[in-house]
Amino acid sequence: MTYSYTQISQYLRCQRSYRYRYLDGWQEKETKASLLFGRCFEKALAAYFCGEDSTATLFKEWGVWREATLEYSKNDSWDRMAHQGVHLLELFARDNRVRIHDPRRDLQAKINRSLLSGNDFVSYIDALGYLDETRCIIDWKTTTSRYPDESTGLLALDPQLICYSWATGISDVALVVFVRKQTPEIQYLKTSITEEQRQEFGRLIETTASQIEAGQFLPHSGIRFPQNGCVSCAHLELCLENQTMIESKLVRRPGASDLDWLDQLED
Ligand code: SF4
Repeated sequence: MTYSYTQISQYLRCQRSYRYRYLDGWQEKETKASLLFGRCFEKALAAYFCGEDSTATLFKEWGVWREATLEYSKNDSWDRMAHQGVHLLELFARDNRVRIHDPRRDLQAKINRSLLSGNDFVSYIDALGYLDETRCIIDWKTTTSRYPDESTGLLALDPQLICYSWATGISDVALVVFVRKQTPEIQYLKTSITEEQRQEFGRLIETTASQIEAGQFLPHSGIRFPQNGCVSCAHLELCLENQTMIESKLVRRPGASDLDWLDQLED
């Protein structure tokens, strides 16, 4: 078995959902414009660090989806997102706060860790680089609303950043948040993960992996509406046995896809 952050977090959110996704092969159809745009934007960032034309890369990648029928959120359109992307790339170059010394090695950096069971845990980290001259793990996010400021302390509780810190042993972590709003903005949020947090996370991974290997796939007990996680679960229609919606929203690809552990740029 090879585990990833995405797999473990899905299991922790709902064991039944994990089974649908990773054992039965049910996946959401990829029609969300925000998700696809996030991937295109990440490729444009890679082009920027490789000294290539990032705007041209964004148009080339995002252009693939121009005529596709995608789900756009309110006020979004292909043109508007392209325009925001270009604006954010210009802003990012002007800020000039992030350095990646070896882009081919340090972007989407693959980190392997062995678990006690002998299985592997693989992380693909957006970037290993320098923010304001401090070496850190960097995670890119594209979003339509600002993240809470660092002063809230919430960033140090971000499970994905804790996971990457555990995987690499690097304490300093950062989120670079590309906010697609009326006036685009980039947030550079930094925090430090403690050794204790890394050890706790390591124990969580080991315990979760052993539950998966024991075949424990119980449905989540659920919380009453409107906080019920089932409402936003990709596999809701399977639990509701709504065949029409299953056919419209999901696609079944038996066996885990090799993209399972590519953590998404878009929230
Ligand atoms: S709908 Fe609820 S119970 Fe069913 S898989 Fe999703 S989170 Fe789990």
